[in-house]
Amino acid sequence: MVDEKEEIQKCDRCEREFPAEDLIEEGGSRICENCYINAHARIKVCDPWAVRSKKILRERAGLVGSEGLTDSQKEIYEFIVSKGGATRDEIAKRFDMPLEELENEFAILRHCELVKGQKRNDGVYIVPFED
Ligand SMILES: [Zn+2]
Repeated sequence: MVDEKEEIQKCDRCEREFPAEDLIEEGGSRICENCYINAHARIKVCDPWAVRSKKILRERAGLVGSEGLTDSQKEIYEFIVSKGGATRDEIAKRFDMPLEELENEFAILRHCELVKGQKRNDGVYIVPFED
């Protein structure tokens, strides 16, 4: 039985069809979750809508904690947790990774609400979100 209220719409980017309610409004167009994630491979920091949709995506995918992260994201997250917080420089040194690349990983960890920035006397630390 088909629910009459279920509208099918095309994703503005990949043009595949999805239930209208599954599309995400983004800058005036409506795109699917896949395109949304791709568009946000380099996501802006502290964008409340992005945090919310990422959370929804993770909930839908049944992901909790650090599941669903790449290996390097997991390692960075575990390092931060084990130290109770670390600066960007410490993390860059530990993982031998350019800061630019790290920022990208932080952005994803932040959007999954696993870590957050915290200002301390000697600088800004990346700390576990629940702290
Ligand atoms: Zn799409």
